[in-house]
Amino acid sequence: MDYEKLAELLFPDVTKEPQDYEEIYPPRELPEGAKVTRLGPSPTGFIHLGNLYGAFVDERLAHQSDGVFFLRIEDTDDKRYVEGAVKIIIDSLKFFGIQFDEGAGADGDTGAYGDYTQSHRGPVYACFAKKLVREGKAYPCFLTEEEITAIRAEQEAAKGNIGIYGDFAPCRNLTLEEVEANLVAGKPYVIRLKSDGDPEKQDDPAHRIHVQDAIRGTLDMPENFLDVVILKQTGIPTYHFAHVVDDHLMRTTHVVRGAEWLPSLPIHVELFQKLGWELPVYCHTAQLMKLDENGNKRKLSKRLDPELSLEYYMRDGYHPLAIREYLLTILNSDFEEWRMANPEAPADDFPFAAEKMSNSGALFDLNKLHDVSKDVLLRLPAEKLIAFLEDWAAYCEETGAPDWDPAVKAIFADHAYLSRILDLGRHDAKPRKDLVYAKQIVAFISYFFDGLFTREDDYPAEVPAEDVAPILESYLAGYDHADDQSAWFDKIRAIATGLGYAAKPKDFKKHPEEYKGHVGHVSTVIRIALMGRAQSPDVWTIQQIMGEEMTRRRLQEALAAL
Ligand code: GLU
Repeated sequence: MDYEKLAELLFPDVTKEPQDYEEIYPPRELPEGAKVTRLGPSPTGFIHLGNLYGAFVDERLAHQSDGVFFLRIEDTDDKRYVEGAVKIIIDSLKFFGIQFDEGAGADGDTGAYGDYTQSHRGPVYACFAKKLVREGKAYPCFLTEEEITAIRAEQEAAKGNIGIYGDFAPCRNLTLEEVEANLVAGKPYVIRLKSDGDPEKQDDPAHRIHVQDAIRGTLDMPENFLDVVILKQTGIPTYHFAHVVDDHLMRTTHVVRGAEWLPSLPIHVELFQKLGWELPVYCHTAQLMKLDENGNKRKLSKRLDPELSLEYYMRDGYHPLAIREYLLTILNSDFEEWRMANPEAPADDFPFAAEKMSNSGALFDLNKLHDVSKDVLLRLPAEKLIAFLEDWAAYCEETGAPDWDPAVKAIFADHAYLSRILDLGRHDAKPRKDLVYAKQIVAFISYFFDGLFTREDDYPAEVPAEDVAPILESYLAGYDHADDQSAWFDKIRAIATGLGYAAKPKDFKKHPEEYKGHVGHVSTVIRIALMGRAQSPDVWTIQQIMGEEMTRRRLQEALAAL
């Protein structure tokens, strides 16, 4: 076979030589050890936690080494394209503090290694497919769907390996004349890799491949033997081919991708070899798992788990720093130890390493995220927290978040007031950790705002209904906004004992028959009248923040509602 002629026949329009592309995309001039990483999402419009998790690894590896992190749009599966998806990807990742240095952008590309959208790179893939054909390493395959199905049936019956390879790849042996005749007849065809692998020798050490994975160590796998498709009938490359060509030409040093790609690694290794290129360092990340109701680990699913979507975190208003910090705890097991030793340091100072990542499923736990978030928010000054809440509110309003209540904006009317509210108990020796995420924060502080205030809890069962009014009336009558905390509490104690409640909980515990209840029950009545809930930070402090007018008014309203 004259492969040179075959290549010209198949790719008459390819004008560039592989060497031209090597020159257009020269090795990057970066400091020694700098890593080049990329995120290659499909533009489906759905960007999920798994993307963020991978992107975070990419971003850390690149930016920690003064390297480059770029965005490549992998749209070779055109059925999945959603308008505006690039903007969604960029904006969502930006929200979580992940910025690309180059690549596809909502308004075009930046960087010298583009085009960064795979569907725009047809001529590049054609050039390298042509090179493989010219060297006898790839060939046109005219098999129809029916013929492939028949081959499969035959293989299944013989319990053999499934796929197009060796003797099951009849088009390997077509003559130039036969190919020409097929082309003239307009028969559709794909370009397949002509694999050198041998399905009979999968256990033979000489036929195994060894790949260093930065997360998993040395991978020992059987070589590829399949004549995989590299260009589809449309001329569009498969993932396999696009990955190899793009990551070589874009000079990617580290390919971070999900473990679902591990089984096809042997294909990629053979493609890199056949093209004469060096392998990048692979980093196959663990799947994100969660514990189900029965305590079993399972993969996070788009259908079952709303928390897989990044929108979930944006709508509920998780602080990006909390998400970053949490991802670090699941990405590198020594992060928490580092955080304890460096409580104030920016998370980016943590020496992140692919080698420290777990290769079994990474467990995603919302409760743990909440714990991390509490600590992160505690380190955030009130004014920063306010700016964050304002951004969150604007986001909810702009995107029409389903349960968004515009009345929430009232909290921003007086920043000094809101600061005092947010700081309540945050600077104590043992600080309160009430604040978790924006939506929860708004609900938590809602009673400070008349427009958001609702009565959530009933008066305590220990207090007979006929005692509520006397408690509130005496409290209101004796209320002096200038009282310090101990004078204030003495008054409550006096009300309690006057009505037959123990002055101290322990007295009540010792002699329950002597009292109706204790001072705690009485102050809960006051708490509910003021805040509408049985649990809250310190009542005296809350009253000081609310001010005298609101305090008195709430008590009067509670009395009127009895
Ligand atoms: N487009 C692939 C995906 O969405 C990217 C895999 C890779 O990073 O190589 O899964």
